[in-house]
Amino acid sequence: MKKLPLYLKIIIGLVLGIVWALVSSSLGWSSFTINWIAPFGTIFINLLKLIAVPLVLFSIINGVAGIGDPSSLGRMGGKTLLAYLATTLLAVTLGLVLVNIVKPGERVDESSRIDNRISYELWAKSEGIAVKDGISFLSKPEYKDRVQAVAALEQTKTVDEAVSSRLKTVESNKKSGPLKPLVDLVPANIFKSLSDNGLMLQIIFFALFFGISLLFIPKAKSDPVIKFVDGTMEVFLKMIDIVMQAAPFFVFALLAGVISKMAGDDIGKVIEIFKGLSWYSITVFVGLVLMIFVVYPLILKLLVRVIPYNGFFKAMGLAQTTAFSTSSSAATLPVTMECVEENLGVDKKITSFVLPIGATVNMDGTVLYQAIVVVFLAQFHMIDLTLGQQLTIVLTATLASIGSAAVPSAGLVMLIVVLGSVGLNPAWIAIIFPVDRILDMCRTVVNVTGDATVSSIIAKSEGMFNYDGKKDPDEAFDPEK
Ligand code: ASP
Repeated sequence: MKKLPLYLKIIIGLVLGIVWALVSSSLGWSSFTINWIAPFGTIFINLLKLIAVPLVLFSIINGVAGIGDPSSLGRMGGKTLLAYLATTLLAVTLGLVLVNIVKPGERVDESSRIDNRISYELWAKSEGIAVKDGISFLSKPEYKDRVQAVAALEQTKTVDEAVSSRLKTVESNKKSGPLKPLVDLVPANIFKSLSDNGLMLQIIFFALFFGISLLFIPKAKSDPVIKFVDGTMEVFLKMIDIVMQAAPFFVFALLAGVISKMAGDDIGKVIEIFKGLSWYSITVFVGLVLMIFVVYPLILKLLVRVIPYNGFFKAMGLAQTTAFSTSSSAATLPVTMECVEENLGVDKKITSFVLPIGATVNMDGTVLYQAIVVVFLAQFHMIDLTLGQQLTIVLTATLASIGSAAVPSAGLVMLIVVLGSVGLNPAWIAIIFPVDRILDMCRTVVNVTGDATVSSIIAKSEGMFNYDGKKDPDEAFDPEK
């Protein structure tokens, strides 16, 4: 019998995980799944992250040193950032177009939208924010009773604890001045940054600085450092090959855990959760699917040409399934690097520089989702966003996606900033919270696919692209090779 390819085994693990969660929750075994199976999913994510942080460090140093001279580095760096910005803008525009066409927030009954609107006006009043679109239910005498009812309810409503504590951190960050993000980019202690997966931008800064400095010291001194970095990187990549052999089981455990936590002992709950937010979820999902199956293939066809439609998915399948199950582009990075390098044929000089940066700053799925969420929540509260406000969304969502750490739910947390930028209530993220994990899984696939697309473009433009499509994608993860 022909051996099953690894990505198929992972998909089987994924499906079995979902089936297990559904069966176990209907039999009332959810706590067994959460206590005894889900931890293996956490172990998988930990193993991947364990490799991701040192890999980012070593691979960027290696990439910069590999490029050789500062002027090619500048050219490639410029091209990379430009390409990342272009795909991000494309994604955010697609998100805005979709949400304005589908109008998911208006597909709820009128009466709840009026209550939502009243609640928004009450919040805006308490925050001293001017309501710009001229509607005011608070001043209409016929709505007096309703306003009172909503106000009473507001007082008993508490925002989910996790959300409110995150809100506080973002609020305190906001108070620290406009140049705070720039200050945050420069670490005071690299060992501190290395111990926190959320500080990837600082690690990138350090690695670029270290790599560039390496180019300016005598060759006799830099050579042993480069050899050490190169060898260490190989060790990390080998570690990933070993971990990936057990990925099908780990993915089973991850999915079983995620769904069981959502469902508890009542599977009907998952369906209920999605029903209320179905139009919103569908809009995000359609946007993400369009990015993966239409936008990226089109970009590749126009700019890279040589990869056939199926070839790209065959090469990237493992990275995409890993992204889906882990919800983290940082954890997926080692897998993405192997897929892009070995299966797509992008030169190591490009992958080791472009991909670690991309995993942190290029999040097309996240930006598309953020644009949709903000407009959806506005529609849901009967608020008409002006063109100016929608342009503000483009800008802040772009920045927020760059600032989002490549970990689960990072996009949701950064939404607080985007909502605030157009005068909407940041606590509304609680509304979409129930379906966020599943959408997070989907947007992470787009984030990773976007990085692979950009690496191919850069590699092609630098003449460092050697795709032949004949290789078995599993070879890249064979621990014996
Ligand atoms: N989970 C996403 C990622 O790691 C970020 C997000 O929450 O959108 O790429």
